[in-house]
Amino acid sequence: MKPAPFTHHRPETVDDALERLEELEDAELLAGNQSLGIVMANRLATPDHLVDLNGVDELEFIDVDDDAVRIGSMTRHRTIERSDRLAECMPLLPEAAGQIAGPSVRNQGTLGGSIGEADPAGNYPAALAALEGTIHLRSSDGTRDVPVDEYFIAYMFTDLREEELIESVSIPTEPFPSERTGMTFLELKRAAQTFPTVSAATSIRVDDPTADEPIVEDARIAMANAADIPLRVEDAEAHVEGTALSAEALEAVVETVASAVTPESEMHADREYKEEVAGEFAKRSLETSYERAAETEI
Ligand SMILES: Cc1cc2nc3c(=O)[nH]c(=O)nc-3n(C[C@H](O)[C@H](O)[C@H](O)COP(=O)(O)OP(=O)(O)OC[C@H]3O[C@@H](n4cnc5c(N)ncnc54)[C@H](O)[C@@H]3O)c2cc1C
Repeated sequence: MKPAPFTHHRPETVDDALERLEELEDAELLAGNQSLGIVMANRLATPDHLVDLNGVDELEFIDVDDDAVRIGSMTRHRTIERSDRLAECMPLLPEAAGQIAGPSVRNQGTLGGSIGEADPAGNYPAALAALEGTIHLRSSDGTRDVPVDEYFIAYMFTDLREEELIESVSIPTEPFPSERTGMTFLELKRAAQTFPTVSAATSIRVDDPTADEPIVEDARIAMANAADIPLRVEDAEAHVEGTALSAEALEAVVETVASAVTPESEMHADREYKEEVAGEFAKRSLETSYERAAETEI
């Protein structure tokens, strides 16, 4: 099927895009077109106007300063995957980006499109939940900063308002010193061009990477495709904080994560299987984050 007829608009600034979003009846934003195109081709969405952000260069950037990492919404998955600066200070994001579909999707798809789509199986939503990111929204009336845990509300339903666009995402750097932190995005995937069955985004900060058994000071665990929104599992984090990632602590993580998730059954994985995988992948992802944290140099 082909999409229903629509008018294509190509603004060159954020202000221009927002003006059109406000003025036009039944308008939808277009980013990398890796999801919207499919939805429109199946006529599950039939907007009269598409406001195409591909000419809005000011939305494509990666900024790193002492306090935060900030990434523009039109930054492509490929750019995030290949960013040396992110690999150094926020490696969860390049690792999450590098596992999205194949190169053609990664060349076109954007951070903002993924957050706008809000698929609970998406890689960035879980990564941002683990990192306690903030979504920066903008409308003609001004800006709004929404913490990730308030942005995702229900299945593919967010706090984004009709007249707003996602301008950028930011993550505080202070809790993740690169010399004592390890991060891992681990997913179970049947094939490259599918969304994962379950993913686990984790981060671990240790007290002293040179110690024989470094102690976990801060742990983060967030799961994708395990509930109707990206799911942070703080109860499981508490099991490993203050430990040297003991076998008992990890066993408690497996149990806590498996009982916290509420996944939907799919053709290739029923709910029970996904619960088990979620617990096991949270554990494996934490183990890798711990190893990575212990390998860093002060
Ligand atoms: C075969 C295939 C496999 C995939 N596998 C994965 C995977 O494993 N993991 C994963 O995370 N993703 C996966 N994806 C999705 C991919 O990441 C998409 O690129 C992404 O979800 C949508 O980004 P986009 O830039 O293409 O957005 P578009 O398709 O252009 O837009 C998607 C939605 O976001 C809205 N939107 C776009 N930009 C903004 C903005 N700045 N502000 C507000 N709303 C906005 C649009 O209006 C639309 O509703 C896959 C996609 C395909 C086709």
